[in-house]
Amino acid sequence: MKKSVAALKAYQAEQPLEAIKDQYQLETLARLSANESVYGPTPKVKEALAAVTFDRLNYYPDGSAQKLRQAVAQLNQVDPEMLVFGVGADELIQLLTRLALEPGQNIIVPAPTFGEYAIHAQIEQAKTKSVAVDASTGHVDFEGILAAVDDQTSMVWLANPNNPTGVLESAADIQGLLQQLPESVYLVVDEAYIDFADTSDNTVVPLLADYPNLIILRTLSKAYGLANLRIGYGMMDATLAQKLNAVRLPYNLSDFQIEAGTAAVLDQDYLQKTVAKVQAERNKFEDFLRENQFEFYPSQTNFLWVQVGDAKPYGQALLKEGLQISQRLSPSWVRITLGQPADNERMRQLLVKIREENKEEKPV
Ligand SMILES: *Cc1c(COP(=O)(O)O)cnc(C)c1O
Repeated sequence: MKKSVAALKAYQAEQPLEAIKDQYQLETLARLSANESVYGPTPKVKEALAAVTFDRLNYYPDGSAQKLRQAVAQLNQVDPEMLVFGVGADELIQLLTRLALEPGQNIIVPAPTFGEYAIHAQIEQAKTKSVAVDASTGHVDFEGILAAVDDQTSMVWLANPNNPTGVLESAADIQGLLQQLPESVYLVVDEAYIDFADTSDNTVVPLLADYPNLIILRTLSKAYGLANLRIGYGMMDATLAQKLNAVRLPYNLSDFQIEAGTAAVLDQDYLQKTVAKVQAERNKFEDFLRENQFEFYPSQTNFLWVQVGDAKPYGQALLKEGLQISQRLSPSWVRITLGQPADNERMRQLLVKIREENKEEKPV
């Protein structure tokens, strides 16, 4: 076994909902720990899935996902040749790492951020350099990232908006980074949550034409509500896309993914309605956090990153109430996915209650 793999810790996947319900004897459980959509996909997805017929199952799917490719190219106004599809954006992270990283090289990531970038770097025997975000604002330290670049740096990863902080960087700031980054270093901007931002001018897609080292990732797992179907894609220079397709397995998306993904992408009305609901709930929740003096970073995503002191009691106490959040990402911060309005209301009440209870137990 590769040494780098022997030392590897697997990504901690979510426990199945049913298992947690059984364990805590819950009637209902709102999973607000993995940034999934609580609204689900457009009903058009159901029709698209039903239209995949039984007599197609013995044939391989379209290895280049033409139907989905055309829809996604149209949506983003990019050349279809610039697209690579994957089993979730996660597969793109794996493929890009596999394509780019030689043993001994390094990647640079903000801290905290999505854990998959470092896991795949480790598999490829590369190092991860972390540059802490600004503690008071949550913003990425662009100067720090540039200062961390050395002659072994192969990739810089930015989730924008970032997970778990929820903070959005402007396209102008990302362009500023690109202008100073050596052309030999890839910049991967993971726009998994970009649809949730208040304005639509935050994507760096318009920069693709000028920066061949820029790669953008998107997923249908979050705003589109299709986490279970596993559909993601990358947008990049067409020559690079060709190489990445050479690294990819030939039939990675099934008919189900291609048909349902296309239906979801084509229903932008539904997407906008979902996003508007999330934004309204986000505003309400952030007002509450401000009024109740919780520390948090303003979010442009479907989740909130809240500083609670000791995170542990929050995870347990909320789970007993049928609300599952993520408390394993930091000792003192919790990540709360925005849920249905009623769940959010209960969450707010419980946050105050849990804080009170823990004050009593441990007086300062
Ligand atoms: C959820 C998430 C992904 C993974 O998306 P999949 O398409 O489900 O693999 C990628 N990047 C970030 C930052 C995420 O939070």
